[in-house]
Amino acid sequence: ERLVSAESQPLEDSIEGGIRPLSFSQYIGQEKVKRNLEVYIQAAKMREESLDHVLLHGPPGLGKTTLSAIIASEMGVQMRTTSGPAIERPGDLAAILTALEPGDVLFIDEIHRLNRSVEEVLYPAMEDFCLDIVIGQGPTARSVRLDLPPFTLVGATTRAGMISAPLRDRFGVVERLEYYNENELADIIRRTADIFVTELEEGAAEELARRARGTPRIANRLLKRVRDFAQVDGEGIITYDLATGALERLQVDKLGLDHIDDKLLRGMIEKFRGGPVGLDTIAATIGEESDTIEDLYEPYLLQIGFIQRTPRGRVVTHSCYEHFKLEVPGE
Ligand code: ATP
Repeated sequence: ERLVSAESQPLEDSIEGGIRPLSFSQYIGQEKVKRNLEVYIQAAKMREESLDHVLLHGPPGLGKTTLSAIIASEMGVQMRTTSGPAIERPGDLAAILTALEPGDVLFIDEIHRLNRSVEEVLYPAMEDFCLDIVIGQGPTARSVRLDLPPFTLVGATTRAGMISAPLRDRFGVVERLEYYNENELADIIRRTADIFVTELEEGAAEELARRARGTPRIANRLLKRVRDFAQVDGEGIITYDLATGALERLQVDKLGLDHIDDKLLRGMIEKFRGGPVGLDTIAATIGEESDTIEDLYEPYLLQIGFIQRTPRGRVVTHSCYEHFKLEVPGE
């Protein structure tokens, strides 16, 4: 499994419980989003209403699920969790909605993957807290309207552009999560190390933060692996030298790039003179799905300015050539 993948990995969630922030004060960074949500939550509580529906979008591993759980806890309600692909038929959604308690948060991950027929049931549920159900078949079929308790839908997506306009319009609050800066990631790493009761040198936290690709999930995962090295090779203390040595052995470079980024970028440079090259062609060259590249590999490479999107395809930038100590063709 890829150490620097922003996606959650099997078994990871079982230990995530202890390190997940439980309140806004424990949730580091994303200051604008937090400030806005705190105001909306306070206002909803003062009016004794449920919170408006919230759409959270941004790359994986930045804390959308965590934020949704904090919203529920600050509102003093339960969170029910499901995902777009898990709700196959309108009846599945109806079962979930009718089981909600008043004010509950319903978290739908990957909401861009809901199918059309399910989405259509969701519209009146979000807007008027009701369900239109068809009973019977053929000429005797009739539509019955069922009232639902008021609830807050929190939708999460890595692909805001793939959400249909009618669904998007029904969210009162739309917030984008951004990559974290190194100071914020170092704070997250220090917080997690405290929870693990592991001693961590200041320089080590910063070095891990630099290589965490702007993503808390990766920051925590790197810390866990480096802690293993500290336990076996050191005296349990994560010093700067131990951390850099471990990261080298784990083949995570100074910018958090690994062999897969290497293969992708060098492939573009060596086979296509740095582009422009289409996403499907890159995918075929390195034997990956285009969606995986677009959702998981590419966002961070775009963020650090190693590739650019152009109308004719992806292009490798000068800073990427510099990183690999390669000459830019034609210069
Ligand atoms: P995905 O969409 O891929 O499921 P996500 O955006 O929902 O990802 P989370 O599962 O909420 O991400 O967060 C990933 C991990 O990072 C969690 O273990 C959580 O503890 C940690 N984390 C996320 N955001 C923060 C934060 N702001 N402060 C501290 N820890 C955080």
